[in-house]
Amino acid sequence: RAKETGKARCIIYNHLSFNQVEHDVTMEAAMFEAVRNGEFLLHYQPIVDAHTRQIMGFEALMRWMRPDIGLVPPNQFIPMAENNGLINLLGAWALKSACVQLKRFEEAAGRQLYVSVNVSPRQFRSDQFLSMMDDALKLSGLEGDQLLLEITEGILMSDPEHAEALLAKITSRGVRIAIDDFGTGYSSLVYLKRFPIAALKIDRTFIKDLPDSIKDAAICNVVLSLANHLSLLTVAEGVENERQMEFLSAQGCSLIQGFHTGFPLLPDALIDILKADALALQN
Ligand code: C2E
Ligand code: MG
Ligand code: MG
Ligand code: MG
Repeated sequence: RAKETGKARCIIYNHLSFNQVEHDVTMEAAMFEAVRNGEFLLHYQPIVDAHTRQIMGFEALMRWMRPDIGLVPPNQFIPMAENNGLINLLGAWALKSACVQLKRFEEAAGRQLYVSVNVSPRQFRSDQFLSMMDDALKLSGLEGDQLLLEITEGILMSDPEHAEALLAKITSRGVRIAIDDFGTGYSSLVYLKRFPIAALKIDRTFIKDLPDSIKDAAICNVVLSLANHLSLLTVAEGVENERQMEFLSAQGCSLIQGFHTGFPLLPDALIDILKADALALQN
């Protein structure tokens, strides 16, 4: 694993100018400061039922509000946080906040919802992860089955023994596991057999050219059929239009996440939407 990280670093730095490296060092310093100043925040993106279109849950997505710079997307700071270890702190904060926030969403909606939180490889390797997760559940009062953890294929394949032991403990709390960006990693089917997986999130790469691309249609069709035979939930990521949505629901996809059905938003905006939905249902 150390070797992998080392190699990745070399590749990155070989392509960077001196200014870029300097920029990264500045950014890294700013990041530690930002944790103290509370500059990180979470947006929540609705995940809706493919048939009824009702909001069933949310994915928590991290952002960094940098003074004088603006909102920084996660792809620009998560990899760095993964390298310098800050991800453990940020990830714990995200998990606890998301669990507490879900309670407020449920209050507004008047019904049960779930929240999906991304877990990075470094967090998953940390000895503290399980007790941190237990704290988040206790603090928020969420039932285990209202929490979904999104991990990638690589996490499972890099250390299967560790993954197996940790997943057994996680799922013993009722917490469910989703494979994020499904199809873009190792794409080995062995882990679907070996590990207690509850959901597959089909990566946007396979969604964006639907339904016209024959290849993507075939890939989605097979993945959905496989998932349904294994009784796994399926979430299509990055759904941007009605044609994609119709294709996916006709192919048996259970849940939809994308700009077509809801942008990632701040909690207050979503609370308004949930309240309006609840009112519309009553009338
Ligand atoms: P992801 O987990 O695959 O999250 C989905 C990404 O797709 C999000 O990007 C979301 O804004 C974007 N997306 C959703 N619907 C659409 C759509 O219809 N079209 C397009 N073009 N994009 C869509 P975002 O928020 O920039 O996050 C990027 C990645 O950063 C995430 O990918 C995840 O891997 C990582 N990330 C975000 N928050 C966290 C976190 O709290 N912890 C960790 N470890 N990683 C995080
Ligand atoms: Mg995700
Ligand atoms: Mg994803
Ligand atoms: Mg993705």
